[in-house]
Amino acid sequence: MGDASKPTQGTDQPQPDSGLTTRATPGPRSRSSGGRMRPTLSVLRARRGPDSGPDTVVDDLKACLQPKLTASCMNPDCSKKCKWPVGRGRPPLFHDRLCHEKYHLIRRRLVAEIADIDGALKRDPRPSGEERIYLENQLARRRWLLQRYPDLAPAARNEDAGQED
Ligand SMILES: [Zn+2]
Repeated sequence: MGDASKPTQGTDQPQPDSGLTTRATPGPRSRSSGGRMRPTLSVLRARRGPDSGPDTVVDDLKACLQPKLTASCMNPDCSKKCKWPVGRGRPPLFHDRLCHEKYHLIRRRLVAEIADIDGALKRDPRPSGEERIYLENQLARRRWLLQRYPDLAPAARNEDAGQED
């Protein structure tokens, strides 16, 4: 009994709870807002049946569950979010300029290293067994990382057009 009133124990106790409840992010399913979950577009389309034409798509889009207004920053090492622009701004792929630069720097480096390793594997005379295994492992590691850095060429072209804004 006497122990429970000690301030050290009191501060320890709330910690496991606060780690589990994330009140900062209200769930879309919260009933307190009075809104029930909106159906997804595919559910609405299915309800209309196979004979529904494309003229009803706009109505269904307005009624369906809306897509999120935030997305992860494309820099795989970053945990920040990008926001869909209000108005006519360009939708950002990176949360800031530094992430944009890091992404392209690391991507360029991986692509160049993969080309070097590819060249070493294809050289004549062919690398010995042990060397080949080493090169293939190094290649696989870089390809594995490169999958987190997809080619953003179509988006990059748009970015180049208005790079200085
Ligand atoms: Zn970022």
